[in-house]
Amino acid sequence: MAHERAYFKPYPRLVIPSLTHKTHTVNNIFVYCEIEDGKVADVSLELLTKGRSLATQLGCKLEALAIGFKLDGIEKELFPYGVDVVHIADDKRLAPFTTLPHCAIIVGVFEQEKPQIAIFGATSVGRDLGPRVSSALHSGLTADCTSLEIGSHTDNKTNTVYENLLYQIRPAFGGNIIATIINPDHRPQMATVREGVMKKEIFSTSHKGEVKKIDVAKLVKSEDFIVRIIERHIEERKIDLKGAPIIIGGGYGVGSADNFKLLFELAEVLGGEVGASRAAVDAGYVEHARQVGQTGITVRPKLYIACGISGQIQHTAGMDQSAMIISINNDPNAPINQIADYCIIGDVSEVIPRMIKFYKKNSK
Ligand code: FAD
Repeated sequence: MAHERAYFKPYPRLVIPSLTHKTHTVNNIFVYCEIEDGKVADVSLELLTKGRSLATQLGCKLEALAIGFKLDGIEKELFPYGVDVVHIADDKRLAPFTTLPHCAIIVGVFEQEKPQIAIFGATSVGRDLGPRVSSALHSGLTADCTSLEIGSHTDNKTNTVYENLLYQIRPAFGGNIIATIINPDHRPQMATVREGVMKKEIFSTSHKGEVKKIDVAKLVKSEDFIVRIIERHIEERKIDLKGAPIIIGGGYGVGSADNFKLLFELAEVLGGEVGASRAAVDAGYVEHARQVGQTGITVRPKLYIACGISGQIQHTAGMDQSAMIISINNDPNAPINQIADYCIIGDVSEVIPRMIKFYKKNSK
């Protein structure tokens, strides 16, 4: 049975009085790269950036999986992010993405390479692949992580210290706690992370790695190509919250869709976009595409102005990495004030018109 292979065997749990230290052999970290028209998705580059820093900490290699068609030169996009090895599966039938062949390739490569950590984007593709791969490998998977760190864990029952584990950190129980999830027994430790949660950063423009070609015919069966894409339609994102340097976030405290017009006016004056809390979206003040937070978009603008937003963790999880936060709230004890750099205590309908007037007067 697959789970009885040495790679996936749980550690024996010895009950001995002194602490036993367990460290897995230093296998590598893999990132599955999403590719559309020969371009690597931002979320994958963000994960490579994180993967690079984890690999450096663990003293292992960072490896990328590129699966698709016409991938000549794709490694040039990936090496600057600190990738040491790029595994390329290049076949006409592998693009556009379909689940079964991509899954078969990933499982095949992981069975051979035995990564200690594997990371996917929490996108529709990653959410499709992650559970299938983890199920095939009898591994675990933590979805929608907001942070990934390396740390140890002591099992007091067995007096065992597990070293160099991946801390898979994410909000849990409706966001009421931040859970740190570990997987001491099985490999790979798998996680998905949403776009925008991690920072995308070039490691070195001169970094070079190795390219390994994947033998597609060896890993994929003909029945894996049972799904054929007949037509594709990609909806353009009209609201660009991610790219906006300034976001005016509106909450339930804004009061109505009509009052939101003030936020749009301020956004126009400042050259920004309007975001919203879930309560504002649920109340029908603005469309869901503007929702910031755990079940919305993660943003990190230069300036986030939170207007009538209380600052529940599900909202702040999506904006607390903003370079500067200003809150406008009539409650001096609103939790948002704890993370804000500047707090304006007042009514949004009074404060925002004054801001608009001020900026109009003082900008050319
Ligand atoms: P409220 O909490 O009602 O706060 C309104 C604030 O406005 C208060 O602080 C009040 O003092 C202030 N106020 C009122 N009137 C005025 C005024 N005239 N002038 C100035 N200030 C005023 N929420 C998200 O935002 N994003 C998510 O992605 C998200 N995902 C979730 C996922 C789950 C699983 C769950 C359980 C919840 C999620 N939520 C999310 C909901 C979240 O818990 C909060 O309910 C929501 O963020 C509250 O929105 P709010 O701050 O706009 O409203």
